Amino acid sequence: MIYLDYAATTPVRQEAIDELLSFLTHDGQFANSSSQHRFGYHAKNSIQIATKTLAEILHCSPQEIVFTSGATESNNLAIKGIAYGFQKKGKHIITCTTEHKSVLDTCKFLASQGFDITYLKPTYNGLISLEDLENSITDRTILVSIMHVNNETGTVHDIKTIAELCNKKKVFFHVDAAQSFGKIAFDLEKIPVDLLSFSGHKFFAPKGIGGLFVRNYLKSHLTPILHGGGQQFGLRSGTLPTHQIMAMVKAIEVQNIESGKQWQHLEKLKLRFIDELSQLDGVIHNSDLQHSVPYILNVSFEDVTADSLLIALQNDVAIASGSACNSGAFEASYVLRAMGIEGNRLYGAVRISFGYDLSIDTVTYAAQKICFEVSRLRKLALE
Ligand code: PMP
Repeated sequence: MIYLDYAATTPVRQEAIDELLSFLTHDGQFANSSSQHRFGYHAKNSIQIATKTLAEILHCSPQEIVFTSGATESNNLAIKGIAYGFQKKGKHIITCTTEHKSVLDTCKFLASQGFDITYLKPTYNGLISLEDLENSITDRTILVSIMHVNNETGTVHDIKTIAELCNKKKVFFHVDAAQSFGKIAFDLEKIPVDLLSFSGHKFFAPKGIGGLFVRNYLKSHLTPILHGGGQQFGLRSGTLPTHQIMAMVKAIEVQNIESGKQWQHLEKLKLRFIDELSQLDGVIHNSDLQHSVPYILNVSFEDVTADSLLIALQNDVAIASGSACNSGAFEASYVLRAMGIEGNRLYGAVRISFGYDLSIDTVTYAAQKICFEVSRLRKLALE
């Protein structure tokens, strides 16, 4: 069985597993990092070293990193944190209709609390218009939240330009970087984002660990969503999961070294895949291939529904219909709908996503298998 659903989650890399295991048991640094004894001190020290490593990779200060359980929590903390922290300044937030549910539903919740949300509509290629964004900002706007790479289409927003606009307009800018962190390098000294969410399980670290970058000047103004022991500057109470943090930082360290080489390999995989699919008629690419990452493809096959294709492939190739977070039931993708995609093309859309550890041969075989099943389903429909 071939796994082509890396945008849903990734397997954990061995270096991260080794690191994780060494922080669990009595012979490792298993202690509570807040404890006032030598065991606790060792755990705390390891976390401090790892946080410093992560900060160096991101070009920020270790004081600007808050560990969370993943991007859902980070998005909640960023958006609710700013909303409640700055509501005296204004109650207007701007986001986009193609954001992840953890952003959209947080905004929906805030709307029920009296906040005013503007949902920017993307153009046909999934990108927001900068002009629309600029025109939507008012003197009551406190936050703009736009994702970096879309989890369904792989479309990449130019977050540097958006950040500069927000900076000029004096509104805070939050980026959901769940699908780019660990794959695209960030220099937070050069990109003036205020908050940035990430999640370990998208870059070969375990599930249940992620983080939020928060600029120092914002930290004391952000309202926490979890209250308790006051860990992490009071922004996220709860005992720090040393093993998870160490594993995630190990994964990002390796990614930081290898992501350039991986990118080239992923581009080859994507081209090979597209090339194989081009043997078929009626293949429609739903992502703008010029503005998307090499590791996510979104494709519709004329006259074949996504659910029938997924079932046909169930013993051979794992791909996604819509986004994994919403599937379970095969519901049409709201992201593609927001891009103006409708009808059979909408219901036929599948997401294929790659990881660095796939070989060209594996991807070629998977693409051929997909072509075979698409042809078979089309023939069956004619009988
Ligand atoms: N944002 C995006 C863009 C995502 O792809 C995901 C994961 N599907 C999330 C947020 C949520 O991340 P997590 O699973 O870490 O909560």
